[in-house]
Order: sequence, then C-alpha cells, then structure tokens
Amino acid sequence: MKYIFTNCSLKYELELMCCHFFPNEKPTEEDDGCGVIEVVRENDRYRVKIEKNGKIGEAFESFSDCAEPLEQKRRESKAFKTAFWHAARKVTDISVPWGILTGIRPSKPIEALLTEHGEQRTREILGDEFFTEESRISLGIAAAKRTLLAKKEMYKNGVSIYVGIPFCPSRCRYCSFVSHSIATAGALLPDYLKKLEEEIYKKGEIVKNLGLLPETLYIGGGTPAVISEYDIKSLFEALDGAFSLKNFREITFEAGRPDCITGEKAAALYSVSPEMRISVNPQSLNDGVLEKIGRNHTAEDFYRALYTVREAGLLNINSDVIAGLSGDSLESFEKTVNALINENIPSITVHTLSKKRAATEGKSDVSASETEKMVDFSRNALTEKGFLPYYLYRQRNIGANLENVGYAKAGGECLYNIYMMEDIQTVLACGAGSVSKLKTKGNTVREANYKFPYEYLRNPHKENEVFYNVLSDGKLTF
Ligand code: SF4
Repeated sequence: MKYIFTNCSLKYELELMCCHFFPNEKPTEEDDGCGVIEVVRENDRYRVKIEKNGKIGEAFESFSDCAEPLEQKRRESKAFKTAFWHAARKVTDISVPWGILTGIRPSKPIEALLTEHGEQRTREILGDEFFTEESRISLGIAAAKRTLLAKKEMYKNGVSIYVGIPFCPSRCRYCSFVSHSIATAGALLPDYLKKLEEEIYKKGEIVKNLGLLPETLYIGGGTPAVISEYDIKSLFEALDGAFSLKNFREITFEAGRPDCITGEKAAALYSVSPEMRISVNPQSLNDGVLEKIGRNHTAEDFYRALYTVREAGLLNINSDVIAGLSGDSLESFEKTVNALINENIPSITVHTLSKKRAATEGKSDVSASETEKMVDFSRNALTEKGFLPYYLYRQRNIGANLENVGYAKAGGECLYNIYMMEDIQTVLACGAGSVSKLKTKGNTVREANYKFPYEYLRNPHKENEVFYNVLSDGKLTF
C-alpha cells in the first residue's frame, strides 16, 4: 500500500500496523494499486487516513508533549497506532486480538502496567487504550505474573547457558531455523562437537572469572538428540567441567524429533540429572500432516519416544505443537492437543505457524480463521486442565496475528525460556547460530556467534572479549 507521511517518520510503526491489519501487503512509497495510507503529524495529534477496497477510514489521536525524548517517542507512537487502529477498523474487519500491542513480547509492557497499576486497572487499560481482546488480556497477565515471580526468585548473580546443536535428521518443510540435515552436513558433526566443547570451557572461564552463578542450562537445536549416546555423555562431561552441573537449578535437553530418541540416549540423560527437562516434539499427531510437512516420523514414533524417556525415568517432559500446519484441520488439531493432555505431559508449548516459516516450502493451506480457532481451542483446553501460560512471544509474521505460548502445570515451566524471552538474565551461548545476551544497566548487549557450522569451524572463537569489556566498564547488571 502506498503511504504518504507529512511531518513525521514512523516507517517502523507503520510496518508493524500494516503487518497486523493488511498482512499480505507492504507499505511502499510507490502507488501499487492496493490502497493509500496518509499519516500527518499536526502539532499535538496524529491524523491517519486509509483508503482501501473502495472505503475510507480516518481518525485522529492527540498526545501530550514530554521533555524526556524516549517518553515523547512512546507517546507519539501510541497516538499514531491508536489513530491507525480506528482508521483501519473502518476499512477492514480482520481479527487483531492483541490490539495495538504490536511488540514480540506483549507480556513486557503488561508487566510494567501490572507493577504500576495492579491487575484491575491493567485490564481496563489494555482493553480501553490498547484494544486488546479479553482472552489476550488474561493470557498476557498470566505470563507477566509468572515473569514477575521468576524475577523475584532468580539468582542474584545468575547466568544461563545455551548450547546449540544445529543439526537435524532431515529438514522439515516449514523450517526457517539455521539447521543442517545429517545427510548434507553430518560429516561436520564430530569436529563441531569438539569445537563446541572448547567453547563451553571458554564460557566456563568467563563464568568463574566474573563470579557468576550458573542457573539454567538449555541444550537446543536443531535436534540435539541427533548426537549419539557417547557424544551426549562427552558433551555433559564438558559442561560439568566448565560449570559444574550440580550448580544448575534447571537443565533442559530439547531432544526434539522423536525419531532420534533411543533408550540409551534417554538413560545417558537420566544419569546426568533425573530431573532434567526433555522436549519430545510431535508438532502434530496426525500422520497425514506429519508427512505433508516433511517431519519424517509418525505419531507412533512420538509415543514410542515418549514412553522411552519415561521408562528411563525422565518425567519432566515438554511437547511442542504447531497450529496452522499444512493439511491440519481444527478437528485433527484438537485431537493432537487432547492426546497430549491425556498423556499427562506437564508442559505443552503451542506455536502458531509463522508466515515466514510457511513460505519457505510447503505453504500452509490452513486459513487464518481456522488457525485462530486452533489457538483458541488450545488455550481453553489447556487452561481448563490446569495448565498456566508461563511464557509468550510473537513473531512479526506470525499467522493470524496470534502468538506462541508455553503452557505448564506447576513445576513444568522452563525458567530458561522466561529469562531468555523476557531478557531478564545474562545468557552465554555456545555453538553456531547462537546469540549471547549480556544484561547491562541500560540495555542488553547481543553477541551473535557464527551463523553456520562451517563458519564456526573455520574461525577462532570470537566473543569472549565482549564480555570482559562489558565487565571492565563496570556495566554488568543482574
Ligand atoms: S526438527 Fe526443528 S530445527 Fe530441525 S528441521 Fe525440523 S523444524 Fe527445523
């Protein structure tokens, strides 16, 4: 859609709002024949006029000035989004359940509102000023409350450790992560693991030198269970040598694809920690859907893996599902969620297929409204059965303007997910494609590792200096 700015430059905010209201179109300075958005900043108010589908929507929203530049920006941004919301409502009836809460972490502003105003007033503000739907208000408040509790209980000088294994048995069609199939890149794996262990020891030195206390450990991927039982043992020996595993309050092994999980691997993980969190992810329990998305495993494989880890003694299990997968229907999605609930899995994470993922290959044939019904079903079914939403995030291109939510019974939450997603603790990350986050007083310093395993192998470890520099500047905060 063509946009015209007068006396303002809100390109980023405009893109966010367009992404929600007109998801198939991008704002452009050229006339693309899809409509026109006119934004004018007039002294103390924004005027937004949208012409689309033969309809015209126009709205105004005022703001008061503030001497503090960041606060001024926030006020103007909110006034613009509010005016956009009212104008867009007149030309489209698309569902925008989060209203003008357009960020990827909606629980963050909700947390601030809760702290300042308490729950009742927060509910009113979210409904009246942010146009957030009741269901999302409750979801956001529950996740924000869990974050506030996690912050209270978090180690004072704690640090989380992330270890990335970006290899998978094969590529799923919807995947947009940096992960290589064993068939094409498996030859790199032995050297990769060796180099990863070196980096783990380097990060261990940082933790010791900075006097940090390891709190959570997350082994993610890719599919970490792709490595052998022998490599699992070796990896945890390195982690023990670097951080002393007994220090961790939580260890998660995101085993991932059921087709990689064996009794020997599960036993190796149990011997590291009987309380270890393990993710066994079916994404769907409909074999037709699994085939369509190229998962290369069946629902039966999932059950076999689930019982295998349980027999080994690992009971702290998470399972991921995705709403909106190609070939899925509301009925079949309901069956998947109900089957996981009936299996008494303590943590179930519901993702919404993002358009970015869907676009890579095998575009989804599920409509936005059907996806929304799936997400609504999962929220209602899980909360009815005593699961609480504990972490929540959105992606810019998420299907149907929805969200990804981790639900858990008490004790099944993943603290790492809360710390990392809400940016409340320093994360030292090891491995290709991983990103370390160093909390400082003013912001979070991000340090990305080499993206691909071949780059990671080709180059020396790079980021230690950043951490020491931040420390020597005295900026590190907890
Ligand atoms: S298992 Fe996960 S990371 Fe691996 S290809 Fe499939 S979606 Fe991507």
